[in-house]
Amino acid sequence: MAKECYEDVIMHCAELLVKARTVDSEENRKAVCMMSQELVFDGLEMKRLDVTGKRVLQSICFMKPEHADQSRRIEFCFEEENGATAVYTFYHVTGQEEWDELTLKRMRFFAMQLHEVNERQNLVQDANYYRYHDPQTRHTNMTYFSECCDYHIRNHTIDRYTAMAVNLSDFTNLNLLIGSSNCDIVLIRFMDWLKIELESDEVVSRISGDQFALLIHKDHEDMILEKLRSSEIRYGKLPGDVVKLSAEAGIYRISGEVESYHHIIQAISSSLNIAKNSLQLQFSYYDPLSADATEKKKFYEEAFEKALINEDIHVFFQPKVSLKDYELIGAEALSRWIVDGEVVPPDSFIPILEETTRICELDFYVLDHVCKSIQGWIRHGVKPVKVSVNFSRRHLSNQNLVRDIVQVLDKYEVPHQYIEVELTETTIDADYAALKQIVYALRDCGIESSVDDFGMGYSSLSLIRDVPFKVLKIDKSFLGDKNMESDERQRAMMKHVISMANDMGMECIAEGVESMEHVQLLKESKCYMAQGFLFNRPIPQEEFEEILTTHAR
Ligand code: C2E
Ligand code: MG
Ligand code: MG
Repeated sequence: MAKECYEDVIMHCAELLVKARTVDSEENRKAVCMMSQELVFDGLEMKRLDVTGKRVLQSICFMKPEHADQSRRIEFCFEEENGATAVYTFYHVTGQEEWDELTLKRMRFFAMQLHEVNERQNLVQDANYYRYHDPQTRHTNMTYFSECCDYHIRNHTIDRYTAMAVNLSDFTNLNLLIGSSNCDIVLIRFMDWLKIELESDEVVSRISGDQFALLIHKDHEDMILEKLRSSEIRYGKLPGDVVKLSAEAGIYRISGEVESYHHIIQAISSSLNIAKNSLQLQFSYYDPLSADATEKKKFYEEAFEKALINEDIHVFFQPKVSLKDYELIGAEALSRWIVDGEVVPPDSFIPILEETTRICELDFYVLDHVCKSIQGWIRHGVKPVKVSVNFSRRHLSNQNLVRDIVQVLDKYEVPHQYIEVELTETTIDADYAALKQIVYALRDCGIESSVDDFGMGYSSLSLIRDVPFKVLKIDKSFLGDKNMESDERQRAMMKHVISMANDMGMECIAEGVESMEHVQLLKESKCYMAQGFLFNRPIPQEEFEEILTTHAR
């Protein structure tokens, strides 16, 4: 090969270099060596150092080390954009004559050409590197974690592992204490410190900030948790440059089939949240059962809004009857959610809605529906009965509750005497004051209120003494089972409660009347109003309207 056209040689050489890096074949190395010999210089080693110039990121050697004369060599260094340095070292082969000026020039050119090709290659490699690594800590990232999980899910090996989400405690304060750059070092050292213990198929990845995800063998769990309980991390050279760390963790001992990595991430994140919000728990284990409850809650919350718009929540009516003549005297409006044709009873969704103020939307939805129905009855010449609507205690914080209720009644021109507001007794002092105010204000507007489920909570007698409820709804548990002695005492109590309410000018209605024995008992106790399965279950509006029309006739 003519020395004049060495540019061509170099390019060819560079191609071989690329091949050498990718296939790493001995043959390619030999070829590069041979060509560089033709160009007078003999051995070549290429290194890539990190920003500090200490750590070797990459190294390729194109000759056998025993051929090199370590004492006679020349280095060409090139700075890369990201601060790393590429170093090309040419070695003399033992016994060879010194390099002359021209050769040195050619060597430099050769190195530059190689570097250019190398840089292009590195860019491609870097893109791959940053796909799976966090640039700050140089540890793997969540893409890597997710792909590892998916790999084990596909191979049905995922149940050998425990997944964890880890959060360093008090890291924000630590930032203030030792500064953010020291904290960056702490993060890296902490991850290094975890990683040291792991085997090659185990993973520690950075989620973000001071949070990490781990995928470890089940039998390594205790060892890792021990480290998370407390650890000392050195971030500088001075004796005091040490911090004590601990971490909260959400832990998922993976068992059975898992659909995708999303499930794993969701499981460890929700458990970590529990640990972070708990005063006692440092580690929280994922529990599929409580997760089911969370899923259910999420389902109802999301579906509720649509249900209101689509009117999938139906208002059922349960008749109230007089025990003197068994005539219809009123009704209670009760919600029923129809999901795919199935009736969902309120016990499944009311407690969920009650955790937020969504329950208030439901109660007003029911009130609106009831008022519209009453307006319809009046227009069709059917005399309405009083309908009671349940109002959750969640409304008690609404300063404008009474105004809002009256607005609905007036919108449908419903005479106020046809609506009764059922409120559940409450034991909280603050609620008690609000309750009192509301009942007074309702009474002033001509709307009656009742205490629902009286006897269920720790009823305070002062509640009925101080708050002007019109009606006491005696809970079904008071009727009890006639064969049980404890229920005998309940019934004795019931008699006295009824007599006390009567003396105070309140009306009493018994809930849960299921038998003629119950009726007998109530009559003996001088309670003459009842609601229960003996007469009717809660029924759809059309069915109730038939009863109402018959009654009106
Ligand atoms: P509640 O207000 O005490 O309503 C009476 C409950 O007793 C109703 O249950 C009714 O079906 C049931 N019941 C009636 N007669 C009998 C009987 O003879 N035996 C037995 N074992 N049970 C009887 P439901 O409809 O399942 O409602 C449960 C609770 O859900 C209600 O208790 C009420 O607190 C709440 N709720 C229902 N709809 C609404 C609503 O729209 N808003 C609010 N805030 N709460 C509601
Ligand atoms: Mg009720
Ligand atoms: Mg009740």
